[in-house]
Amino acid sequence: MSPTSQPVAVIALHGGAGTLTRRAITPAQQSLYRETLTQILQAGQALLAQGASALDAVTEAVRLLEECPLFNAGKGAVYTSEARHELDACVMRGSDLASGAVAGVRCLRNPVLAARAVLASGSPVLLIGEGAERFALARGCEAVAPDWFGTAERLAQLHSVQASAGQAPALDHDAQNLLAALPTSPLDERSKFGTVGAVALDAQGHLAAATSTGGVTNKLPGRVGDSPLVGAGTYANDRTVAVSCTGMGEAFIRALAAHDVSALMDYAGLSLADAAHRVVMDKLPPLGGRGGLIAVDRHGRVALPFNTEGMYRGWARVGAAPRVAIYADEEDGTQP
Ligand code: ASP
Repeated sequence: MSPTSQPVAVIALHGGAGTLTRRAITPAQQSLYRETLTQILQAGQALLAQGASALDAVTEAVRLLEECPLFNAGKGAVYTSEARHELDACVMRGSDLASGAVAGVRCLRNPVLAARAVLASGSPVLLIGEGAERFALARGCEAVAPDWFGTAERLAQLHSVQASAGQAPALDHDAQNLLAALPTSPLDERSKFGTVGAVALDAQGHLAAATSTGGVTNKLPGRVGDSPLVGAGTYANDRTVAVSCTGMGEAFIRALAAHDVSALMDYAGLSLADAAHRVVMDKLPPLGGRGGLIAVDRHGRVALPFNTEGMYRGWARVGAAPRVAIYADEEDGTQP
């Protein structure tokens, strides 16, 4: 790909970052994650190949991730300290900075579609709680019973965290003493940042980003992380880059991490790779910002940096085979 030629449409995904359980799981369990990411990349890739907008591609990719109980968004979302679900999501369009977000919703099957409905309204940008639910339901979003999001695995995860950490939210544990309890996924479910996200460049040269999450296990009721906040966990600007983050939300909010990647490219002239690396490896760690991000720039370059042991990630250019990876020592095809 040459920066001067017409960009080829491309999509990238993440399914959260965190601590490894590689020793504890089978190849078949790992394959399930890789196959799921590949299938969702292929769905996004097919949409982009048909000429869909980047906004449509990232919305659909995140909707599919929300439907998948492997990831902490929609079905399979983590529990609050009161054993309920409060979901956050955001979408942003790079051509005009149009944005829509919802936070703390409890009965919307696909929070990303609610965020998309907020974007379509033009204003406001962010709606919370019951007001967001009423707004989305009035625009055709599907309601589900609050327990629809729950899974036995996530409930066991909440109980495990509460037993080991009292009332502290499960942001990051080394969890050596906990590794045996839930050995079914490549990243430790109790310390993983399991948010999902997608970024894309379409054939028209437009960028978009989408992020959706259940937040962090054992979070305080009412706590909102970076995911639904424009510039913190999600950002897209056709001048620069589309970004979706995953990690300890409080640090990503304080760093305005997603926007900072764009600002470093825009104002300091950094390349995508340098800007993304600077934010994830230099700026977030002093704030306790474990996690990572996915980013696609206006030329279709892709960066997937993270400062944890692993991040579920993948990307696919139209016309090329998708690449997926989980572990840090695994080539994902984006390194310069
Ligand atoms: N960033 C999310 C939050 O703090 C968590 C995650 O990435 O899994 O809500």
